[in-house]
Amino acid sequence: MTFNAPVPSPSMPSLLMTQLDLGNITINWLRGGDFEVDGGTLFGDVPKVLWQLESPADADNFIRLLNAPLLVRTPEFNIIIDTGLGNKLTEKQRQICRVGRPWSVVEDLHALGLKREDIQYVILTHGDYDHTGGVVMKNGSGGAELTFPRAKHILQKKEWYDISHLNSRSAQSYFPENFSGLQASGMLTVVDGNRQIVEGVAVRLTGGHTRGHQIVEIRGSGGCAVHLGDVLPTHTHANPLWIMAYDNFPLELIEQKEHLLPSYRKPNWWFTFYHDISMKACRLDDLGKVVEQVA
Ligand SMILES: [Zn+2]
Repeated sequence: MTFNAPVPSPSMPSLLMTQLDLGNITINWLRGGDFEVDGGTLFGDVPKVLWQLESPADADNFIRLLNAPLLVRTPEFNIIIDTGLGNKLTEKQRQICRVGRPWSVVEDLHALGLKREDIQYVILTHGDYDHTGGVVMKNGSGGAELTFPRAKHILQKKEWYDISHLNSRSAQSYFPENFSGLQASGMLTVVDGNRQIVEGVAVRLTGGHTRGHQIVEIRGSGGCAVHLGDVLPTHTHANPLWIMAYDNFPLELIEQKEHLLPSYRKPNWWFTFYHDISMKACRLDDLGKVVEQVA
């Protein structure tokens, strides 16, 4: 249970050099495009005097977040958890989201010695565009295609229902173009509740952030990790009451956090992050204090 650098290459970006080693399973973080969100929306009803100590905003009250898809390599399978912003956002959308560094998941996989076709599973924690933008990519000839054409894409049944039945709120965040052709390709796998995906990797339905939000448990021979997705978007959200204005079912989410966080605050469990700009993973003690981190 250590973190270290994979085979070094002079051109490899520093994010890719960060690897969490769980024995027979490794985790790397890819560059899924970073963006900025309003500090108030990131911390819901928490007063700014409190959250700005943990997560300072710029003069316009914005906070930069990563979208860092996880590459999970087991002895047999290559799995991606969430897919980043993708390369289909319009110029206007990029401006609204204040996109900084662009999506470079395919290039990052190449740097790690993998092709798009080498990914066998894509686990989507939920349907929001910042997690599913890279499911379908723009190709060189002006069309769009599945980024990972041989991967089974795992979504919860409740989430797929909501993606397929938009309302005026969800339409702001579930973009149909991120799922176009997925069902027809036969590569969509809808699961209902908790399910083992491959040896050592399982999903659990949580709801809370969205109705069908799921988390991922990873159990290696030398340690374990839990990816809580947007149940725990950054380490600064470890207080169960520190939730986002984007959370659709706040009371359900608080209940889930009160139950889930203590259950993984154990010496051999890592929490991994997707949005955190300063921390890729950490271990928490039983009081919720960070005792070790992958920066
Ligand atoms: Zn998110």
